[in-house]
Amino acid sequence: TLAHGSCTTQINSGGRIYGAHYLKNCYINNGGLLDVCSTTKSTGTSKIDNLITLYAGGYMNMYLRTNGSSTYSSKVTAVTLNLRGNLNIKPVSDIEGATQVFEPAIGQSFTLWEVTNLKTDESSLVITLPKLPNGMGWDTSELLAPKGILKIVKAPLRGDVNDDGLVNGTDIQAVINFIVEGQYDEKADVNNDGLVNGTDIQEIINIIVNAE
Ligand code: CA
Ligand code: CA
Repeated sequence: TLAHGSCTTQINSGGRIYGAHYLKNCYINNGGLLDVCSTTKSTGTSKIDNLITLYAGGYMNMYLRTNGSSTYSSKVTAVTLNLRGNLNIKPVSDIEGATQVFEPAIGQSFTLWEVTNLKTDESSLVITLPKLPNGMGWDTSELLAPKGILKIVKAPLRGDVNDDGLVNGTDIQAVINFIVEGQYDEKADVNNDGLVNGTDIQEIINIIVNAE
């Protein structure tokens, strides 16, 4: 256990902190690593009294774990969390010697931090997330908030313009409707080029043909 309750702790290049710790301020500098895991090879908590800053080039590893329908994750508590560097969110099995598992399922939710102020510089913040099985996607819309929540949701089915869970002729009709109305629609823009036109219809045909 590292308790450094009255000073500022700096993690410099090549340095790593892991296991239980309780710090006043924590600066993760370029090349430094805060590994938010416990010495028992599981998820852990970084308790920061005041300010924690992940600088550009610094690393913070956080872990996700499941046990049946229960979810657990590494967690940071602080007044201010300032994210500017590399935030690597990983399955718990990435901790050397870990025996626990991360088994993703739609509907799971993980709370990675609870702070008063969340600050970020999105030009230097790089977030990496575990790969998910087909059909699942990460919902990061509530992550960069004082209570940082990461969710697993059903991945949108490419080409399913009318959102009925199938890719078929009715989706082609839906694209035609958007073209006729001269409207842009993200789902109808199947090839993701910023336009809704005949190439998106061709793309849906390709998806249908390839699925057969
Ligand atoms: Ca459809
Ligand atoms: Ca398009």
